[in-house]
Amino acid sequence: MKLVDGFSRIGEENAFAVLARAQQLSANGKEIINLGIGQPDFKTPTHIVDAAVTALKNGEHGYTAATGIPPLREAVAAELSSRYNTDVSDELVAIMPGGKVTMFAAILMFGEPGVEILYPDPGFPIYRSMIEFTGATPVPIPIRESNGFAFSATETLSLISSKTRLLIVNSPANPCGGVTPKKEIDNLVNGLAEHPNVAIMSDEIYDRLLYDDEQHISLLSYPEIRDRLILLNGWSKTYAMTGWRLGYSLWPEPWFDAVRKLAVNAWSCVNTPSQYAALAALTGPQDSVQAMVDTFDERRRFVVDGLNQLPGVNCITPKGAFYAFPNIKDTGWQAKPLASALLEEAGVAVIGGPDFGTLGEGYIRLSYANSLPNIERALDKMADFLKEHSPT
Ligand code: PLP
Repeated sequence: MKLVDGFSRIGEENAFAVLARAQQLSANGKEIINLGIGQPDFKTPTHIVDAAVTALKNGEHGYTAATGIPPLREAVAAELSSRYNTDVSDELVAIMPGGKVTMFAAILMFGEPGVEILYPDPGFPIYRSMIEFTGATPVPIPIRESNGFAFSATETLSLISSKTRLLIVNSPANPCGGVTPKKEIDNLVNGLAEHPNVAIMSDEIYDRLLYDDEQHISLLSYPEIRDRLILLNGWSKTYAMTGWRLGYSLWPEPWFDAVRKLAVNAWSCVNTPSQYAALAALTGPQDSVQAMVDTFDERRRFVVDGLNQLPGVNCITPKGAFYAFPNIKDTGWQAKPLASALLEEAGVAVIGGPDFGTLGEGYIRLSYANSLPNIERALDKMADFLKEHSPT
């Protein structure tokens, strides 16, 4: 029997395939250092875990409202209001089963044959996959190394056509670690005034993972686009909670009921103890976030320094997230064969840039969510491999 066409177009995240292969090699006795998967290597802070356990013990394990428990929605609205000095209503906050589900919902709401959706390339692979699933035409926004891996407002605006329905932006960004400067975001928002029918989804899941005194610029700080802005965020990266499946989104009022109904149809609600954990994360001590950022920062400097000493490799210093995106063009390798050989022969899992879009050719992504000794060992293994296998 034939499935609907969308399933012949849906993609996936190769990071999960690399993880599975790395686990298989390691089960066969090979030493593998995993710099592939994008998740913090820290434990979820104890007070957050305790809140989930207490919730379960208190019998909080039934369904909740589809868009989340009221105190959690209120806590999200309060945090956004105070961080961005704006007024966010808890009634427009939806608690989601992961950050990913917000992009799923937003793309489903706007994607259909005949329309165009703009998304970053290189970018999180699910954007393009979901756009193609809906039958909409994906229009890549080039994310260039020459621009510090920030998006360019001028280039983004130039790609908008009468068919554009949704614009997806992501800063700080996966896979390049780029952070788009305020001036560029100002210019984008100004230019969007000319395109009032374009919805915007801003993926700000790495908002707290910033270095070198960078301040997060949220699209929520721009009142002129609030009536068409979908904000994607969550707990996965900030509080080391990827497996809890938690996220939140903020919607313009006219679209909120659509996401509520989608929730009722698809997931009923986010698992209840996770919601209590999320509440403890937002309202409890934040020192673990700072400690994690400090540790990432140290590794970031180390990994960039190490990468720049490898033959044929050049890496600019990322300002956010926990990824480095080195240029490997001078090694003489194509990105995906190099990533595969590094895993199979050197025992280092990384992801080939083309897994994040066509402009990812010539780059690989390393996640530095791993210990300094492991990163050091991975860099040594990469150095030995490249010295032995580079044509020059
Ligand atoms: N957005 C970006 C840019 C990501 O890199 C990721 C995860 O890697 C997500 C969203 C999804 O996060 P979650 O695990 O909360 O679904």
